[in-house]
Amino acid sequence: MEESSAPTSKKGAKKAEAKAKKEALKAQRAAERAAAQVADIDLEDDPAKDNYGRATSPTFTPDTPVVELSSLDDSYDGKTVVVRAWLQNSRIQSAKMGFVELRKGGNWTIQGVVMATISGTGAETQLPAEGTPLVSRRMVKWTTAINPESFVAVEATVKRPLEPVKSCRISGLELHITKCFVLAPAPAVLGMTMAVANQPVVNFSDETPSAGDADKAKEPEAAAESGTPAASMLTHLDNIAMHKRAPVQQAIADIRVEVKKLFRSYLEERRFKEFEPPCLIGAASEGGANVFKLAYFGQEAYLAQSPQFYKQFEIAGGRERVFGIGPVFRAENSNTPRHMTEFTGLDLEMEITHSYTEVLHTLEGVLLHILRTVQERCADEIETVRAVYPSEKILLPEPGKEVRLTFAEAQKLLREEGPAEFRDVRDDEDMSTPQEKALGAVVREKYKTDFYVIDKFPETARPFYAKLDDSGATVGDGVRVTNAFDFFIRGQEILSGGQRINDPEELEARIRAKGVDPESAGIKEYLTVFRQVGVPPHGGGGIGLDRVVAWLLALPSVHLAAGYPRTPKRLLP
Ligand code: ATP
Repeated sequence: MEESSAPTSKKGAKKAEAKAKKEALKAQRAAERAAAQVADIDLEDDPAKDNYGRATSPTFTPDTPVVELSSLDDSYDGKTVVVRAWLQNSRIQSAKMGFVELRKGGNWTIQGVVMATISGTGAETQLPAEGTPLVSRRMVKWTTAINPESFVAVEATVKRPLEPVKSCRISGLELHITKCFVLAPAPAVLGMTMAVANQPVVNFSDETPSAGDADKAKEPEAAAESGTPAASMLTHLDNIAMHKRAPVQQAIADIRVEVKKLFRSYLEERRFKEFEPPCLIGAASEGGANVFKLAYFGQEAYLAQSPQFYKQFEIAGGRERVFGIGPVFRAENSNTPRHMTEFTGLDLEMEITHSYTEVLHTLEGVLLHILRTVQERCADEIETVRAVYPSEKILLPEPGKEVRLTFAEAQKLLREEGPAEFRDVRDDEDMSTPQEKALGAVVREKYKTDFYVIDKFPETARPFYAKLDDSGATVGDGVRVTNAFDFFIRGQEILSGGQRINDPEELEARIRAKGVDPESAGIKEYLTVFRQVGVPPHGGGGIGLDRVVAWLLALPSVHLAAGYPRTPKRLLP
């Protein structure tokens, strides 16, 4: 079902927009002033001049270890280290002392202190005792005027601060900087500051603003509730590096990597083998209209809208149990928080020994393993995301208490316990998105889980390759049910799967019954494979990686879970 992505936090945005504008302007002026001051500094006669400046290959004290912020701990107290990081903030306390905040590895931050050891100026200059590093007042001024988001390398002594530094993740240590070099400067004015980048995105519309509104769209908007400056997805994507640098996006990206890893490792431990389906195909694979066409040496080619046929070719080819992780393309003009024109599919297909429930249980097993383990392995990252996008912890069923409803049972539940508007939902018609969401709320309340399965979909809601239930069971006006299911997280679909037809005659009959020509390009070759060899009973499923990540974290849009979201109106960056 189509639904439009309505901008969130519209109300109140105007009022706070003025505040945001004022703040942005203030920040810009301060940055320009600081940049001008730095330009004025003559480093030549500074005794500490070799200890700071712009450098591509700076010199540090020999044998000083380069340390990642994430590995700094109390064992470094008193030691000298080199740290490479982004400078995200700075302030000058006095002519002799300043502070910087360094960030690296997602959201690892630490306070740096830069304190002059050389006193006096000009003829009055007094150098410190032999062996003390040279830090001049000019170095203090220069260091604290570095533009935020510049990449720096510092040499520093690790010390315990007098008081814990609450603003930094590493609060129990600080860096006493004795050398500071800018390896890559950021401009004086950023397109989006870190403070804005790490706020929730306030509007997911891809509409390009009209000429008059273009500048407005790029300015920080405002999160109506807090009044804190925040920006639209458009602004985030136009500032892709800052979008990605924000700790919240770093955490989402790390969780995504972990989900993929867990999918692969769980299946490999159960005899599944990875395969790679093609993305370029010669015919619209499932006969649908939602495929991207492209020119291909005088012919037409298409981008695969699913690896479905190829997963089945693997089974026909004797690969027994396969999985694939790769891009899937959909030429659907669906401008919703759930859809993208390119997403990542986690797919599997397996032989069936006795029943299609083997497939259902394998898919349930892999997803519950992912959802449980990711919460242990990515506890910090999940907290980082929650701090920006608050959410309730996902409820998962106890082992052995998984919720599996038939489609008819789910519709009954919705009729009886859902909102009044769904009193008349039918057992032989597919669910709409609002129905799915309402059912999610009912299931959560009744079964205390955000993860559940709906099985036995009516054949009207499934593609031609879905195997009909052998018992001949029907719903509604005599519609047969299939051995096919969908999985849901928080009332939103994340997986479609089921048993596939493996008998060529049955398959051809279903293809015809669905109004598809069995002789049409792609379908003919698909059907031929089942005639060429005996294909064992099999089934599988396709999971949308982006949706798993997004709904696990209860993000407002799947676009936040993708590195570079592709939508009908957006192909860049
Ligand atoms: P929907 O009804 O939500 O559009 P679908 O029924 O077309 O999804 P399938 O073709 O069954 O979805 O694809 C399998 C899985 O791939 C879905 O459960 C979902 O997780 C994911 N998926 C499908 N379409 C998209 C999309 N446009 N963007 C992101 N993920 C998608």
